[in-house]
Amino acid sequence: MSEYPHLENALKHYFGYDSFRYPQREIIVEALENRDLLVIMPTGGGKSLCFQLPALIKKGLTVVVSPLIALMQDQVDGLRKNGIPATFLNSSVSPYKTRMREQAILNGKIKLLYVAPERLLSEKFLPLLDLVHHQIGISAFAIDEAHCVSEWGHDFRPEYRQMILLRKRYPNVPTWALTATATERVRADIIKQLGLIQPSVHIASFNRQNLYYEVRQKKKNSYVELLDLIHKTEGSGIIYCLTRKKVEELAFKLQHDNISALPYHAGLSDTERSENQTKFIRDDARIMVATIAFGMGINKPDVRFVVHFDISRNLESYYQESGRAGRDGESSRCTLFLSYSDVKTIEWLIDQKSDEQEQMIAKQQLRQMIDYAEGTDCRRTIQLSYFGERFTGNCGNCDNCCNPQPVEDWTIEAMKFLSCVARCKQRFGMKHIIDILQGRKTQKILAKGHDQLSTYGIGKDRSLDEWRMLARSLLHQGLLEQTTDGYSVLKLNSLSWEVMRKQRSVSIVVPPQEKAIWKGERSEKAEEAEFLFQRLRQLRKQLADAQSVPPYAIFGDSTLRLMTQMKPKNKQEFSKLAGVGSHKLSQYGDKFIALIQAYLQENDSISSKSNSSNGDISYTELQTFELHQQGLSIKEIAQQRNLRSTTITRHLSDLIEKNQPVNLNLLVTVEKQKKIIQVLDILGDVPLTPIKEYLGDSYSFDEIRLVRGKWRKSVNHSSKK
Ligand code: ADP
Ligand code: ZN
Repeated sequence: MSEYPHLENALKHYFGYDSFRYPQREIIVEALENRDLLVIMPTGGGKSLCFQLPALIKKGLTVVVSPLIALMQDQVDGLRKNGIPATFLNSSVSPYKTRMREQAILNGKIKLLYVAPERLLSEKFLPLLDLVHHQIGISAFAIDEAHCVSEWGHDFRPEYRQMILLRKRYPNVPTWALTATATERVRADIIKQLGLIQPSVHIASFNRQNLYYEVRQKKKNSYVELLDLIHKTEGSGIIYCLTRKKVEELAFKLQHDNISALPYHAGLSDTERSENQTKFIRDDARIMVATIAFGMGINKPDVRFVVHFDISRNLESYYQESGRAGRDGESSRCTLFLSYSDVKTIEWLIDQKSDEQEQMIAKQQLRQMIDYAEGTDCRRTIQLSYFGERFTGNCGNCDNCCNPQPVEDWTIEAMKFLSCVARCKQRFGMKHIIDILQGRKTQKILAKGHDQLSTYGIGKDRSLDEWRMLARSLLHQGLLEQTTDGYSVLKLNSLSWEVMRKQRSVSIVVPPQEKAIWKGERSEKAEEAEFLFQRLRQLRKQLADAQSVPPYAIFGDSTLRLMTQMKPKNKQEFSKLAGVGSHKLSQYGDKFIALIQAYLQENDSISSKSNSSNGDISYTELQTFELHQQGLSIKEIAQQRNLRSTTITRHLSDLIEKNQPVNLNLLVTVEKQKKIIQVLDILGDVPLTPIKEYLGDSYSFDEIRLVRGKWRKSVNHSSKK
């Protein structure tokens, strides 16, 4: 679009971004032409900019209606960090401050005003709006979270229904409605309830390319798997559980394992909830364990992973909840743990509903959720098709695409299983059938004489888990049924008989043993780059704490990443980074540039020394060495030097390699040293990861790195001879 050539300049000036995301530009152009708008974008799509930039360009005040006080505060803080004149009015603001802010508005000093809907329509407020309208003009009403106006949405708020009054009072002021809710019904409702006139409707794709989706089976040791996932993922995360009790338990367990996790659910007091939320947003706590009460109104853009430790009730909720990861566009992970006992719990909850129609819909939605979790197609294809969007698959960023699951013919096994159900006269559950197939001598089997059945023991070649997998798949493929009265008795249907008569074959997905590799997992080399990133984060946190704002309000993760890549040397280079607007450049530029330069200098000495063959020792290594000789542990040295312990380990390992008298026995037990040397002799000088895989979890990277120093020294030594 060639119209409005200045838009890109304004974008860079106010927000520091170089280009619009699709379809922001189209939306903004129409906003500037005073059209009514309905904007539907997934979370993280960049909705706010669609009304914020026009608000800055247009004459007058833009009034933003937002349902949550916390959200308002957040957005206004963010804008002010960019030097944009924005403010908010709600019940949390004192009368004195309210008057001051109203004055500022009437003086034309404010471009964006955030208000809660109930305030907007109060008798005191409307006269103020009238004044604004006459004196400086109202450029638009932006209705954020517009789905709140619809009963069909997931968050109906009756106050939103009053908004139509604005239309009547100020017929010439355009209304812009924005939401992340995708369903057709809600869309139509928003247009009707807000009285939008020939609105231009923009629906962005719901494909969130930066999110890696995966589903794992929940097993007894899934907690360990969860811990592992937390350890190998950087940054903040949300873990969703179904019930308050589970939230409490899991948060407690994680804390016990030294992970800074906090609980969040409706059973906590308001103060506790908001304290925990603030700690999470400010990066004082890394993980929020929560029920679905947590999320709406959390604007944290740098959530790096969302785990559903229990399954969601439906795919739309799952999409919205998991979508709280990676709003900043950086790669993030969404993991769902599937367990059939959780499904049972949800089914039970659904059964408590009194309305039969509601029950049916809820069950069907749950079914779709399970189909997603069990699906073998690209996860994106399944999700997007739910929103009526076609996606061709092969996204390359989900477990099914990265690790296609082999399908196997299990017709024979299916025949065995189904005929066992038939022999038991369709009166038993899955567990009993499998016990018979596996030839177990349970009390029930002996009491019923089922050890006399012809199918007794014909399934010894398959494990309990394999039989379960088959049975579930038969159920999901509709080749077998189960009573839903709470007893779960297996029943045959006409398709089951087709299978038994060999008129129908059965294929099931057999998950491979090894786990999918996630793009975000870092190699040893990437870890070096990570170091600077962590330092930048530390600086960001210091600045944020000093101003009592969340870290992301200073710079987003993506801007920090760019700093690690571009390593700007001066303000001019710094200003080019996406996310650096004129205001932030003058506020923070110098501090970040100084840090990057200090890092480069330090690193220079490291790289020049490690390339030199004569084994020169750098200054930073020397400092580490001195502290080591004073008897400090790696952790203590790291603390004292304000470096990461991995860096200290690296120093020590290099020092060993350079024949310095580092006391390795203090750092790694002699037994472990022996074992590591053995493995190195077998594998050679390969990266640490395969060595660690060989040795197992009881060996740390640090230990291996240190011993590798010793091993390298001996190898170099013998090769020189
Ligand atoms: P939504 O309200 O749709 O969930 P936001 O408006 O909060 O999304 O935007 C999500 C993130 O994307 C924010 O961190 C925002 O600064 C960033 N963003 C928005 N537009 C752009 C753009 N054109 N270029 C780069 N980043 C952008
Ligand atoms: Zn995929």
